[in-house]
Amino acid sequence: MKKTDQPAGPPAEFLARMRDLLPPDEFAAFVTSFERPPRTGLRVNTLKISVADFTSIAPFSLAPIGDWEPAGFFVDGDARPGLHPYHDAGLYYLQEPSAMVAAALLAPLPGETILDLAAAPGGKATHLAALMANPPATSALSALRRGLNADGLLVANDVHAGRARLLADNLARWGAINVLVANDEPERLAAAFGSAFDRILVDAPCSGEGMLRRGEPVEWSRAIVTACARRQRDILTHVPNLVKPGGRLLYSTCTFAPEENEQVIADFLAAEPDFATIDPVRREGFERGRPEWTDIPPDAAAPLSRAVRLWPHRFPGEGHFLALMERQNQAGVSRPALYRPQPPAREELRLWREFNAATLTLDLPEERLHARNGRLYLLPGGAIDFGRLRTVRYGLLLGEMRPGRFHPSHELALTLRAEDATAAIDWPTDDPRLAAYLSGADEPFTGANGWVLITVDGFGLGWGKAAGGRLKNHYPHFLRRDKGRVLPGSPDV
Ligand code: SAM
Repeated sequence: MKKTDQPAGPPAEFLARMRDLLPPDEFAAFVTSFERPPRTGLRVNTLKISVADFTSIAPFSLAPIGDWEPAGFFVDGDARPGLHPYHDAGLYYLQEPSAMVAAALLAPLPGETILDLAAAPGGKATHLAALMANPPATSALSALRRGLNADGLLVANDVHAGRARLLADNLARWGAINVLVANDEPERLAAAFGSAFDRILVDAPCSGEGMLRRGEPVEWSRAIVTACARRQRDILTHVPNLVKPGGRLLYSTCTFAPEENEQVIADFLAAEPDFATIDPVRREGFERGRPEWTDIPPDAAAPLSRAVRLWPHRFPGEGHFLALMERQNQAGVSRPALYRPQPPAREELRLWREFNAATLTLDLPEERLHARNGRLYLLPGGAIDFGRLRTVRYGLLLGEMRPGRFHPSHELALTLRAEDATAAIDWPTDDPRLAAYLSGADEPFTGANGWVLITVDGFGLGWGKAAGGRLKNHYPHFLRRDKGRVLPGSPDV
């Protein structure tokens, strides 16, 4: 999807194409949907809080999006949930409802090995991570404790380096610890992992027609649609080798163009006879794929009609296409080798233990500690080898070694609750000291020297370090709020 400086609104040529595809009454409803303002969607982070607990503290009015995704809501009114401290604490992800359908259809299970091949900025990856958690959040348990109890691995990849770092940041805010964030080509992932994955999401780069309704300035032309279709085919070429026998593959786009949807799937199925489409449970607004918009003969149409089309005039979200497939051949399992952690050196382990004992109320499994370039990580329980793949992060970055001490990472704070720390300062959302902390201010402090976890209503936000009657602010500079940034209590939030 390319952004443009052209004025927003559906291009005339795009509308003419849709008029050719849709019956007149349906085209009229489709066009009318462009007049409705887009709504803000929010998905609760069930790694950190149960849906019931979140709705009881939510500072904005929420309306459920449907029983197919209990954690998904519309945010009513003029609220700006992206500016609320609960967003900084990773209690939710802002995502429009159609985008929530992908992870719900792929339905990852605890203990599985999952790949999100084109994952940045991470909306669907955070959703997959939440669904993989075991057990679901019904009690107050931090994301770290929940992750330690869970098996399974999510490999989240994006080919663009900057976007892969953004993906890693979003997964860190989410508190997902059983993840490998990679930054490489599908072909190299296939070479590194073989058929290791129970379920794979390919949320392909596309012409973005489904986002035109949101008024996003998307550059559109027939040539772009053709180029996207070529790229989608290229990406899919390497995917069959990554799917376990019996495993599932979900292909999705946010465009209406048949060339990027049914036609890509028709070509994929023709080339890969091991794969067959699955007809998912049809929820309201889950329309069928349109084989008649491809070049395949009518007697071969059934597999394509099993795909799901989400139309803005039939579903309370934007345009999406999803095709769920299963690899049916049971032969050819390849088991990737387990990753061999690099244990911390004796002095590194001593510094970590000293920090752990002084700061945390939980013990982490030391056999999963991995030391690399002066940094210390907690690897996922089922960490698999990734060969020579370009990676951004494996597991949870705990922190780094400084001369004579261990310095905790911001992302460790984001996995914790107040009770996980020996010293925590908990502020409610309307406390001015919270606003000051998020802006980078130091605070007076009378407690013992050492690391202090800062929490909002009990949820980890960042670190402060107490020394000499002051609490030095360790909220990361790149996240600090501008002086003018709006804080809760203002009508803007
Ligand atoms: N799934 C994401 C989410 O929910 O936030 C959105 C993914 S976006 C539609 C498509 C992504 O594919 C882009 O981030 C782009 O950088 C990435 N991409 C493009 N070509 C790719 C390739 N060959 N391999 C992997 N990722 C690719």
